[in-house]
Amino acid sequence: MADKIFKKNDEVTLIIDDISDDGSGIGRSDGFIFFVKNALPGDEIRAKVMKVTKSYGFARMMEVIKPSAGRCKAKCAVAEKCGGCSLQNYKYEEQLKFKFNKVKNDLIRIGGIPAEEIEAKLRDIVGMDDPYRYRNKAQYPVRMGNDGKPHAGFYAGHTHSVIETKDCLIEPEINSRLLDAVLSWMNKNHVKAYDEETGKGLVRHVLIRHGFTSGECQVNLVINGSKIPDEAGLVALLKEVMPKDLKSITLCPNTRNDNVILGDTYRTIYGEGYITDTLVGITFKISPLSFYQVNPVQTEKLYGLARDYASLTGEEEVLDLYCGIGTISLMMAAKAGHVTGVEIVDRAIKDAKDNARINDIRNAEFITGAAEDVIQTMLPGADSRRRKPDVVVVDPPRKGCARSCIDAILTLAPSRVVYVSCNPATLARDLKIFREGGYELEKATPVDMFPHSSHVEVCCLLERLRSAKEHIEVTIDAEDSTGIYSEIVGVSDKI
Ligand code: SAH
Repeated sequence: MADKIFKKNDEVTLIIDDISDDGSGIGRSDGFIFFVKNALPGDEIRAKVMKVTKSYGFARMMEVIKPSAGRCKAKCAVAEKCGGCSLQNYKYEEQLKFKFNKVKNDLIRIGGIPAEEIEAKLRDIVGMDDPYRYRNKAQYPVRMGNDGKPHAGFYAGHTHSVIETKDCLIEPEINSRLLDAVLSWMNKNHVKAYDEETGKGLVRHVLIRHGFTSGECQVNLVINGSKIPDEAGLVALLKEVMPKDLKSITLCPNTRNDNVILGDTYRTIYGEGYITDTLVGITFKISPLSFYQVNPVQTEKLYGLARDYASLTGEEEVLDLYCGIGTISLMMAAKAGHVTGVEIVDRAIKDAKDNARINDIRNAEFITGAAEDVIQTMLPGADSRRRKPDVVVVDPPRKGCARSCIDAILTLAPSRVVYVSCNPATLARDLKIFREGGYELEKATPVDMFPHSSHVEVCCLLERLRSAKEHIEVTIDAEDSTGIYSEIVGVSDKI
């Protein structure tokens, strides 16, 4: 507990030693924790206290007294203001080291896995050769500026003020020209951008998505209404930028006054209303409302690991929990006997079924529902004629798997569990339960899906140890008649 009581506007000197989930630097003064934006591990800084709670505070960076050896100049001029890239001023190799250590420390500290075991089982982090221009999807808010003209950009961290960004360095370069086309159509037709305060104005967001493999592009305008003036003019300006590859222009009405970007429907004003792209060997049809992985280069690597870890031979029953639009399920289907995907969002399940049809994949089925509920119907004794899964894949959201879901997986006792995680802390918590339930961590590989953010994904393989009883019987038969195993039997019964 800190001895000192801090208050707003106090000045503190901090040595930053960690990074928070949202990418702020973490430092301590008199044992009290402060979060500071744009501060990096190894920095010594002077900061001004902005807000304190009982157990931590937020401070604003005033001066870097001694910079971290990992510090570099961010390539993007607005990196420090924009909420997108909190680590762009940290050398990429340092970002990777930080993410690897985060996974390692969480597995040891929260997962209770011995450090030597982690040393042996945690593989190198898979980074990107070129960690820029990696996103295939961008959502630009549009707002009126003080100059009376519409501007597009990104939100500043934790706020809805728009930082104008002509060229975001993690998005394709051509996006700035597509944005310019939308803005000049707005200027020409005196179309106002949406105002969150008054609820007036027409254009809310411009969404741009590219198929990195197909080259196809989609522009979706989110509007506060159902119609726009001069549709043909907008289409013509956008097509001028991408005459061949722009395949779809849509309008998505959203008149709600909340933080959700998309409306529930869309109308096509040019092209098909969708684009197609290929990922992990599967063709996806992507409508403006569909979820699609945003970093295709790293998704191939992450899901490639998941496929390798599953070691399928063509016979297995695979259960893919939290399956989204079925990316992993469909990829595994080619190598498995049968795959069942389970996902809570019905729209995603519809996309997964469509994707199975488009790819003529017939050994995959998809169920809408919460993983922790649907899996109960698959337990032995439940009214089900399902085959018991040989491999279970889980790819849960940040909060990890529900305890009841893990318990059900333990009851189903598949030989392998492939755990794909976007949050090392909940992964470590869940691995502890799997390990106590008779599974061993075979290997784990962190993958950097979102360079310049503090996020990291991990793919893990868990293998079921032979049940302790089997193990002991085999060992006793083979080499022991002295009864020294009786003690272990007592322990193993709990497994
Ligand atoms: N593997 C998927 C992405 C997984 S992201 C893909 O490649 O597309 C995590 C998914 O879990 C999201 O699609 C989310 O909608 C879903 N989800 C969240 N809570 C869930 C629950 N309790 N049961 C099932 N799915 C859930």
